[in-house]
Amino acid sequence: MNSYETFAYVTKAPEGSIDYKKIKINSEIGDVLLKPILTGICGTDRGIVNGALSFAYNPGGYDFLVIGHESLCKVVESSDKNFKAGDLVVPVVRRPGDCPNCRIGRPDNCSDGNKHEAGITGLHGFMRGQFYEQSINLVKVEDPSLKDVAVLTEPTKNVEKAMEVLDRVSSRSIYSSGDSTFLDKNCIIIGTGNEAFLYGLSAKDRGFNTYMVNRHPLQKNITEMLDAFGINFIDTSQDKDFNKRIKADLLIDTSGDPGTIFNYIREMNYNGIAILFGTNGKAPSTQVSSEDIDHIIERNITIAGSVDAAKTHYVKALDDLSKWNRRYGTVFSSMISNRISPGDTEIFFKKANGEIKSVIEWE
Ligand code: NAP
Repeated sequence: MNSYETFAYVTKAPEGSIDYKKIKINSEIGDVLLKPILTGICGTDRGIVNGALSFAYNPGGYDFLVIGHESLCKVVESSDKNFKAGDLVVPVVRRPGDCPNCRIGRPDNCSDGNKHEAGITGLHGFMRGQFYEQSINLVKVEDPSLKDVAVLTEPTKNVEKAMEVLDRVSSRSIYSSGDSTFLDKNCIIIGTGNEAFLYGLSAKDRGFNTYMVNRHPLQKNITEMLDAFGINFIDTSQDKDFNKRIKADLLIDTSGDPGTIFNYIREMNYNGIAILFGTNGKAPSTQVSSEDIDHIIERNITIAGSVDAAKTHYVKALDDLSKWNRRYGTVFSSMISNRISPGDTEIFFKKANGEIKSVIEWE
């Protein structure tokens, strides 16, 4: 058991708040001491800080939660011979409970809810000066060229898991076109945040005509990046009938907005698959009609939720990052759009100008 003091970003879950201050950790299990290099800020962190995610809670014995679940860390010392000082690692977020899925290394598919998530549900996260981890929870970054982008491993692992969901549910019919590809299939991604970008890159890799939508224009730096990736952007405040003009075979939602989601689901193609990923406890409710239900049934549409991912998806995510980093170079690495110093708390309330991914730079 390790006990220490360090500076950390803390919130009170689920009410929300954010503070950067010295904290005391009383007893932490772990054979590897880590120091973060970069920690990413995502929609979930902002949701917790703003009190919009009722599922977040503090670890037992603490009246606060250290926030942060996206990180690239450096090993400071290790008593596990597989890790040495200086190694780059990404700690996994979800920790298993005792259900059948958790026991086979798939806490992402936990069947009783008794898992924990670092920085989200009952376990301190990674936005702190140092922390101890059990080596089983670490994924090593073997490709040294990923030093600037490996902080994207955690959000990319979500995409790998969702694509696994797509593969599973799409096997109930012939999902590809007659030429065996997805080249004339449409993927629509709702939202233009960091997860949407990563979904867009992955959908493009699979051959989909890929569209990202939002209800306002985007800054030039962002549309230029989408052009470089071959992803179409649609501003639905201008192109109001886009959902009727282009019909989705694959719909991925990162907005958590029920009204917007159903605007696309009620127009989806036969055998379409909608993957719900975004969560927004403050989004307004919507109405679903009996016609909508008929459409979903008659067209064999699948609506699947997808949460988190397993360690195997982190490993696949590192391969994705190596590929995209090689293919797109600095365009890809500029997805890390804003770097801030520890202590800044404004970033949790308002996206930085032109933000795709804001990170805290710890060293
Ligand atoms: P983000 O940057 O907040 O992305 C949300 C995106 O949705 C933003 O681009 C936002 O646009 C857009 N949006 C909101 N309402 C919309 C609407 N009505 N129409 C079109 N676009 C809309 O967050 P992120 O980090 O990319 O994460 C995406 C979501 O996934 C978040 O809700 C997060 O909590 C969730 N998440 C889920 C999991 C999981 O395991 N399922 C894991 C991580 C994150 P504006 O910024 O312009 O409002």
